[in-house]
Amino acid sequence: ETSANVIDGKRVAKDIREEIAVEITRMKEAIGIVPGLAVILVGDRKDSATYVRNKKKACDSVGINSYEVRLAESSTEEEVINHISKFNDDASVHGILVQLPLPSHMDEQNVLNAVCIEKDVDGFHPLNIGRLAMRGREPLFVPCTPKGCIELLHRYDIPIKGKRAVVIGRSNIVGMPAALLLQREDATVSIVHSRTKNPEEIVRQADIIISAVGQPNMVRGSWVKPGAVLIDVGINPVEDQGSPRGYRLVGDICYEEASKVASAITPVPGGVGPMTIAMLLSNTLLSAKRIHNFR
Ligand code: NDP
Repeated sequence: ETSANVIDGKRVAKDIREEIAVEITRMKEAIGIVPGLAVILVGDRKDSATYVRNKKKACDSVGINSYEVRLAESSTEEEVINHISKFNDDASVHGILVQLPLPSHMDEQNVLNAVCIEKDVDGFHPLNIGRLAMRGREPLFVPCTPKGCIELLHRYDIPIKGKRAVVIGRSNIVGMPAALLLQREDATVSIVHSRTKNPEEIVRQADIIISAVGQPNMVRGSWVKPGAVLIDVGINPVEDQGSPRGYRLVGDICYEEASKVASAITPVPGGVGPMTIAMLLSNTLLSAKRIHNFR
């Protein structure tokens, strides 16, 4: 029985944070500019507050200035957009992030469109997504979670060109941009979603699987072609009486089964999760460099 290589996202993310910190020091010493990230959080979802707190901590750890605006659940779309406009015009801010999901009375599209594309470090502006989809065009920013998935493949020297890739899930923030990125890297890409018939048949053809579904342990060992590389984006709480919180986090891929078949696999937690924030920091640095024409 063989066992897959574990793709250690936590370690890679730490390496990337160290590289970013070095670059930030170099930029500060050369031109006196410190990158700045503005985060807008609307409402009081606990998970969103945790994500925002983690993003701030990560900024602190590499020397990015972070600015946070917290708005009440009851605030209006106009108020949110006003804050975005201020950050668009603020020279000390190089990245603007609106924590999703927004309260249901707001139109996500209106709000995201208000972020100027030069500061769209989440890469969710339709212009950036459109460019990602087009040949010969370059988006200013690539969405952080899918970018983190590809970065893991690169750092583990896993070839993508000419490979069969299957992305499970087609959300705007993960599945869809992940498929576009794999295609840009010359993989042949299939997308599996909730209406796909016989998903396991399609998934079994994959040399590379990126799964972003939100269903615990959906991808079984029998779905995996021997030697395939598995990137598991899913973060799913499942009941666990043995753990102090009463639950633990598992991925979309049944790790125990799939790790016996695959050649490499990301764990949950400690795989894609830490890479997402590292890519946000990376995009913020990229933005500051571009705005100030610093190489
Ligand atoms: P969404 O709910 O927006 O999208 C889920 C996608 O999975 C949809 O396209 C849906 O299909 C598809 N799907 C649902 N059920 C099935 C099924 N049974 N078979 C095949 N496809 C299915 O989720 P997100 O993309 O936002 O997130 C996905 C997962 O990734 C979640 O667990 C989330 O917590 C995690 N996540 C992790 C991040 C990280 O940093 N590691 C960042 C973001 C998300 P359809 O389009 O037909 O509805």
